[in-house]
Amino acid sequence: MQIDQSTLAALMQREAFLWLNPAYKGEAFACEPSASMLQQAQQRLVRAAPLLQTLFAEFNDSYGIIESWLQPASALQVALGEQQGQWLLKRDDALPVAGSVKARGGFHEVLAVAERLARQHGLLQDDDFMALASDKAKALFAQYKIEVGSTGNLGMSIGLMASALGFEARVHMSVDAKQWKKQRLREQGVSVVEYSGDYAAAVSAGRSKASQDSHAHFVDDEHSLMLFLGYAASGQGIADSLTAQGLEVNADHPLFVYLPCGVGGAPGGITYGLKAIFGPNVHCFFVEPVASPCMLAALANEDEQPVSVYDLGLDNHTQADGLAVGQASALVAPMMRTMLSGVVTVKDDDLFRYLALAQQTLSAKIEPSAAASVAGPLALLTSKQGSAYLAQQHIKAESITHIMWSTGGALIPDAEYQQFLRRGTTLLAQD
Ligand SMILES: *Cc1c(COP(=O)(O)O)cnc(C)c1O
Repeated sequence: MQIDQSTLAALMQREAFLWLNPAYKGEAFACEPSASMLQQAQQRLVRAAPLLQTLFAEFNDSYGIIESWLQPASALQVALGEQQGQWLLKRDDALPVAGSVKARGGFHEVLAVAERLARQHGLLQDDDFMALASDKAKALFAQYKIEVGSTGNLGMSIGLMASALGFEARVHMSVDAKQWKKQRLREQGVSVVEYSGDYAAAVSAGRSKASQDSHAHFVDDEHSLMLFLGYAASGQGIADSLTAQGLEVNADHPLFVYLPCGVGGAPGGITYGLKAIFGPNVHCFFVEPVASPCMLAALANEDEQPVSVYDLGLDNHTQADGLAVGQASALVAPMMRTMLSGVVTVKDDDLFRYLALAQQTLSAKIEPSAAASVAGPLALLTSKQGSAYLAQQHIKAESITHIMWSTGGALIPDAEYQQFLRRGTTLLAQD
């Protein structure tokens, strides 16, 4: 492990700070996965729209498109005492069915598996995905399992979509994953297998079980390109939403995006998709809990060997369960090495403060993992490192459009959400 002394000290002391990526290159854009794969993923999701509407009534409002509202967030900005720039909250917490950003990657991968099987068996001659809902397709899918290892939200996304198409769905979870998520999955006919270790242990157990079964597809959160491309397909939706709101993105009006990071697939894919459209004019930052800064550790490690937060003496215990990952994706971390501007770390107490503020100012019901995004613009605008980044990039703070990516929340049971909210309002009252 080769991490510079001051970064290492800040990580080990669980400080909240902004780490700037010294390897960031605004201009250079890695070409893997290729532009044509991204385009194929976008087309797959467009073709699937009528199918999604058929499978789930919740997709009627968006005509089967997996997309969320880009909500103006000036009330939150004011509550945080920040005057500069244009703030927006990307409402993936309200995405249909899955209630989290995992709808983007997870639905895409299940659809890709269904498409491949249907083509192999001659059930999809043209590109009409409605054939995937036919009785013949259902009978075919019933012979196959789709499995996934998950802290919760990915399991919901994969499990619900797979079982709606007729697959046998199985989710491998760590015992500390939220009870209500396991229950909801079981109610939908998804089988849940529990493991005593952490998230990585659940993933590797699931992976090895599925590898012994030729009729099983394992959705591998640590390596999957199909998940990654599903997330990456979100770039065009952001571009369209910004245009619709009259917000330009160019060198004089840069876009800054703050993405909560677990294993790195969702924020990495979204970063890739945004870079493909906006190039050097979009600046992406990940946000990680101080107990689980796995992507920061991976990118700060100059010898580029895998490193986990346990190697740093951290315990990976956080209330942000979507972000409780000890080791970054080996697929995504190398791609982020020159693409990502930096990483912000955040303390759990602040997650609850931001969760409460999002409710008070924007009526947004978001989960602690999603609230991490709010730490992004604050860190950029109030830290020495943030000022250094803006100076180095020749960016004026007032010219920035900030997008906080709210990654989940809609499915949280009300009783649990009220507890989160109370913790946040109590902390705010004490400040
Ligand atoms: C999974 C998840 C993330 C992070 O996605 P990764 O692909 O694990 O980095 C962020 N927020 C929520 C709510 C999630 O469920």
